[in-house]
Amino acid sequence: MTSVPASTSATRKSRPQTNLTVLRREQLSPYMVRIIAGGPGFAGYVNNAFVDRYVKIVFPQPGVSYGEPLDLWEIRESMPRDQWPHTRTYTVRWVDEAAAELAIDFVIHGDEGLAGPWAASARPGDTLIFTGPGGGYNPDPAADWYLFAGDESALPAIGAAIESLPAEARGLAFLEVDGAADIQGIAAPEGVELRWLFRGGVPAGDSGLLVTAVRDASWPDGRVQVFAHGERGYMKGLREVLYGQRGLERSQVSLSGYWAKGRVEDDFQAEKKLPIGTI
Ligand SMILES: Cc1cc2nc3c(=O)[nH]c(=O)nc-3n(C[C@H](O)[C@H](O)[C@H](O)COP(=O)(O)OP(=O)(O)OC[C@H]3O[C@@H](n4cnc5c(N)ncnc54)[C@H](O)[C@@H]3O)c2cc1C
Repeated sequence: MTSVPASTSATRKSRPQTNLTVLRREQLSPYMVRIIAGGPGFAGYVNNAFVDRYVKIVFPQPGVSYGEPLDLWEIRESMPRDQWPHTRTYTVRWVDEAAAELAIDFVIHGDEGLAGPWAASARPGDTLIFTGPGGGYNPDPAADWYLFAGDESALPAIGAAIESLPAEARGLAFLEVDGAADIQGIAAPEGVELRWLFRGGVPAGDSGLLVTAVRDASWPDGRVQVFAHGERGYMKGLREVLYGQRGLERSQVSLSGYWAKGRVEDDFQAEKKLPIGTI
């Protein structure tokens, strides 16, 4: 497995490090786990106002000594790049300032990788270190209706976005998961329809369901705002539908790959910075 830490313009100031303690783990569905974390480090967490707020979870490399407590920004200034800890990007599903805790939902996608396997076996008392949050999307109050499209990796961001909408909002959400057991309770306004798409055993990233469903759907009238995220190939397909078939303007669309089939995040994020990796 090759891994090149993605270059970043983030700094200690723009993306401070937070060290939390895992408080509990909830099994949301067969392939999704919620980690709720808090503890004394929560006081240092500076929330932002984006519904798609995300953090970079830090995974130290085995066999490399980083000093205690681990300081990612210090490491990046003082150690060679190939020794930096790996990072993985995750949405903060909710923040409860009063209870001093936050939740992150992880897709459990097998034995490969760092974050998925970590979340599958995380226990109360474990450490969760991340930098951030970043973010960039909020529903535009001027839109006539909202379209959401994503696979499991985008469910936390789409769920948070839908739950932030006003009661009178109208929309359509296309949510690709493996099966009915993966349906999650999302508190959607009455006018926002959730359409769950079931892969039925086809591996994530290999199905044409999401793109086909958005392409073939009958869309309500009016100006739409789109939030579409998930596997990179799906997003390439959706780009054609949204800009080519439906003629949307860039300003109406938030679209990006959240992961790429067969590639670890370090490689995928590094590629995204090259012209060839831009969706
Ligand atoms: C802004 C942003 C927000 C995100 N929010 C979330 C979130 O809230 N929850 C979430 O689960 N993911 C989220 N992701 C996606 C997550 O960062 C990637 O899935 C990441 O690759 C997982 O890291 P890993 O260490 O588990 O696997 P990696 O080491 O990166 O990859 C190992 C192998 O697993 C495969 N793989 C990775 N992710 C998946 C998947 N979802 N399904 C099937 N196979 C996979 C890879 O293709 C690779 O072959 C987000 C990504 C971005 C950019």
